[in-house]
Amino acid sequence: MKPAVEIYDTTLRDGSQGEGINFSAADKIRIAEKLDAFGIHYIEGGWPGSNPKDMEFFKQAARRKWKTAKISAFSMTRRKGVAVEKDELMRNLLEAKTPVVTIVGKTWLLHVTEVLRARPDENLAMIADTVRYLKDHGKRVIYDAEHSFDGYKDEPEYALATWQAAEKAGAECIVLCDTNGGCLPTEISRITAAAKNRLNCRIGIHTHDDIGVGVANAIAGLDAGATHVQGTINGYGERTGNCSLTSVIPIVHFKMKQSGVPEKSLPKLKELSEYVDEIANMRHDPRRPWVGQTAFAHKGGMHVHAIDRVARSYEHISPEAIGNHRRVLVSDMSGRTNVALKAKELGFELTNDTPELKTITAKVKELEGQGYEYEAAEASLALLIQKTMEHRTMPFEVNAYHVSMRRDGQSSVCEATVKVMVNGESAHTVAEGDGPVNALDSALRFALGKFFPQLKKIQLTDYKVRIIESQSGTAAKTRVLIQSTNGKDEWGTVGVSENIIEASLQALVDSMEYALLKK
Ligand SMILES: [Zn+2]
Repeated sequence: MKPAVEIYDTTLRDGSQGEGINFSAADKIRIAEKLDAFGIHYIEGGWPGSNPKDMEFFKQAARRKWKTAKISAFSMTRRKGVAVEKDELMRNLLEAKTPVVTIVGKTWLLHVTEVLRARPDENLAMIADTVRYLKDHGKRVIYDAEHSFDGYKDEPEYALATWQAAEKAGAECIVLCDTNGGCLPTEISRITAAAKNRLNCRIGIHTHDDIGVGVANAIAGLDAGATHVQGTINGYGERTGNCSLTSVIPIVHFKMKQSGVPEKSLPKLKELSEYVDEIANMRHDPRRPWVGQTAFAHKGGMHVHAIDRVARSYEHISPEAIGNHRRVLVSDMSGRTNVALKAKELGFELTNDTPELKTITAKVKELEGQGYEYEAAEASLALLIQKTMEHRTMPFEVNAYHVSMRRDGQSSVCEATVKVMVNGESAHTVAEGDGPVNALDSALRFALGKFFPQLKKIQLTDYKVRIIESQSGTAAKTRVLIQSTNGKDEWGTVGVSENIIEASLQALVDSMEYALLKK
């Protein structure tokens, strides 16, 4: 069945223009494979001839079998005053050997006369020649109309003439682009509807997020008759980014009730978003709509109480539908229900009537009063709940530690010694590190590694320090949050003290203890 809305991904081209994003050819292939498996209809691989990495991508892509996606190569209309068959851009494009090509051309008269310094009719000829030439070479052609909306607002008839030139020459889809990202949804609706009136081919929409309405603009375009939408995973892109497909895809399916990607792919949306972040080496944005970690996190006591009864009452959709999950945040605002739900989420058998629940809630409130924070430290909370529920003792104890720093010449070295006790047996180790916490972490890990070899694979992935204002006139306290991983799961722990090293040690100890409890 043909989808009602075609999804066109440009993460590898427009997305790679984003600050801090740099894909190798191998990265591009991995992302393209993931997008293909997910069921994205078009994958724009890059601009052939613009750099060797893109050429390498197309070379490898041509050898592969793609399940659902058509790979597209991007370029622009032929140059002014150059015959299309003589233009090197076209040669590079044909060498990319893709079934689809996407050509960007000028819509805005201002750009034609001032930037391109071409006559209006010459621009029309450049569009038509390019599209026809590529059609004659067996390509399917998508035409990206740059500055569609700004151009139309200035000179509507000229803008339409450029789109009609592309259509007449054989483009199968005219994509209206809000290149500067400054248009409003109402403008997008009006102009897309006008284009729909005058064109017979498919209409697409390509938007940017400069004023925070990139996704809204794409939806406005679809609502006004576009049936092809371009964007990037996680909204990567120049400036503030492109329209995010991680929002558009579920909106098309769940809110507009139209077919886009295959239904069975939707529960893998969060995974796709994380995968692309991982390859781009970007931290996953917790507040990203739909797929972020906090997208279904509930904190206020009243919300949580209602969620416990009817999830639908405070959630626009079931989080599992896009592979996310509900989280209940425990904080000093929490009532007993939060703590009970959180405990269940962490795998404890517990109800609102469990007698220990009162003790746990009181303990959480007391510790949060001292500066502890459990929202990002669920592992520390799990340990607290478990200790209260099962009256368990620590698997190890840190009896003594010492941290020092010295500087000789250019370099400084930190050294830590740690003495631990496990089942009456003790171990004493020393380690160096680039900082006191790093040294302490190594020393602790070596000492415990003797008894628990599984701890050797644990790694710190993040370390955050926050100074908490003191309320009682005593010295300010330091809160340390640590993220750790065993390569498979990630967990957060917290420590609080007037002394940053002591706070770090608490968080480290919790992290190791949690790793030992994990099965
Ligand atoms: Zn763009």
